[in-house]
Amino acid sequence: MAATKILPGVDELQRRVNRGETRAAIAREFGVTRGAVALALLRAGKEPGQVRYNDLIPWRVRKAHLRQYAAKMLRLEGRVRNGLPINDDDAGRLASWKQSLKDNDDSVIMYFAEHDCPYCEGSGGFHPVRRIDALKKFGQPAEGFDTELIFVTDNQAREINSRNT
Ligand SMILES: [Zn+2]
Repeated sequence: MAATKILPGVDELQRRVNRGETRAAIAREFGVTRGAVALALLRAGKEPGQVRYNDLIPWRVRKAHLRQYAAKMLRLEGRVRNGLPINDDDAGRLASWKQSLKDNDDSVIMYFAEHDCPYCEGSGGFHPVRRIDALKKFGQPAEGFDTELIFVTDNQAREINSRNT
């Protein structure tokens, strides 16, 4: 039988979330699943029916980009990771989208608001980028963010973290 995993009290959890720590990072630290962290917050009424997608969409996203397919899929994945239900059609779409990223040389999703986007001519948005190309161009992804599906650069992390403090 596995050792009992103990999360800190909900006030401490909330303090960490307010500091901008992701559920994934907290989960890693205490050796529990992301879902367990989300559930603890949900049970304590700290997340009243509100899903936070920050774990997978940490960037400040322009309105024009919110409906892009990758954004939809990342929100769905966020629901799943937070232990919330999605319908069968969405589950199918999500699975094949994730598979297509893997099949496409293990691509990750990058986001650029506009002028700083190296992958299109200024309109910006979510782009699948081969992981190896992202690593070559930006170095290691920033710590404290998902690295399975998304790639947050160090510059982006600085902006995100300064916004959350
Ligand atoms: Zn672009």
